[in-house]
This record gives sequence, C-alpha cells and structure tokens, in this order.
Amino acid sequence: MDNPKVKVQASPKFGMGLFAVRAIEPGEEIASFDGELYSWTTADEHLPNDPPLYVEDHAIPIGEWSARDSAGFARVANHSCDPNCGIRDFVRIVAMRPVAAGEEITWDYDMAQDDGIWDMLCRCGSPICRGRVAGYRFLPPDRREAYRGFVSAWLLEHERPFAGRAIDVLGPVHHLCGSGRIAGEQPGTDGYRPKGS
Ligand SMILES: [Zn+2]
Repeated sequence: MDNPKVKVQASPKFGMGLFAVRAIEPGEEIASFDGELYSWTTADEHLPNDPPLYVEDHAIPIGEWSARDSAGFARVANHSCDPNCGIRDFVRIVAMRPVAAGEEITWDYDMAQDDGIWDMLCRCGSPICRGRVAGYRFLPPDRREAYRGFVSAWLLEHERPFAGRAIDVLGPVHHLCGSGRIAGEQPGTDGYRPKGS
C-alpha cells in the first residue's frame, strides 16, 4: 500500500520520483510491488508473457526469471547508490533510516536484481556512486553489509560472490535500460499514471 506520507512529484535529478511529505521512521513501509506478475526467458524473447520493455524497467525482479510491477507508486521510486530505503522480503520498499520531509525516497536497484543482463549508467550524485549499476554480483562488500536486512530474499537463496565493481569489470560503456533512461540524467514520466487518469 502506498504510504500517505509520500507523494509523486518531479525529481530534480531523475524525472519523476517519490518524496516524503512528512518525516518517516526507519522500518516504515513506503510502497510495495503488488501489481502484475511477469516472467520471461532468454530462450525466446517473444513469448506472450514477456514483459514490454517499459515494464522491465519498472518491475522489481522477484526471481531469476520473474518480476512484479506495482499497482501504486512503488515503480516510481528512483535508484541511489546511497539510498534511504531498501527491500524487505521480495516486494516491499521500507525505510532503512529516518527520512526527513522533502527528502526523495530512493533504494538501490542492486538490492533486487542480478540477471546478468540489465544494467544502468548511474549519476545519482552520491560520493559513493558506483557509476554503473549492473546487479547484486557487482555490489561491493561494504554496501552488502550496509544493506543487511534490506536485500530481496531471492538474491539470498544462494551465495553470490562479489564480482568486482561493474564499472571496472564491464567498463564505462553501457546499454540503456528498457526505456532508455539513465539514472540522474534523463527526465521522463517513468510511465506513471496516477489512479483514475
Ligand atoms: Zn549512483
């Protein structure tokens, strides 16, 4: 359920985003990916249940081959390499620390994805920005420690050794995520439509 202390508005950095309108306590749920379920396979890109590209970019992975979109505003929450929220269970965005009124709600997309395909150039502006976000395997040990309790359950089902920083391993060249969005650079609506519109 969408937390009433949070609203969707234009983000100075990311297009649309979620913002706290009142202070939020650590552990409070912000929103959840409670919408349509998708699955796909690399064997055939044209299976009827393959997600449209725009969905791939907004749904949260909940397993090796499946993802879930949100009915509410969870899909609008932007990535940060130094986020104030994380993922509980599989689909819930939950505050990791106190969030002040006016602050943008962010989570680290590598808390939920590791398919070896999806990646994203990041310009979140954090001093610890990783530059390229490409999956949990590229999440450094200190970040994994900082995110303890806030990583999607499917990523913890087996060990995923640190493969090095994505920017070092894969280089600065990137392929854009589904909508062609670059975090921190390209404005857009993120496909979000308020209920009833
Ligand atoms: Zn970043």
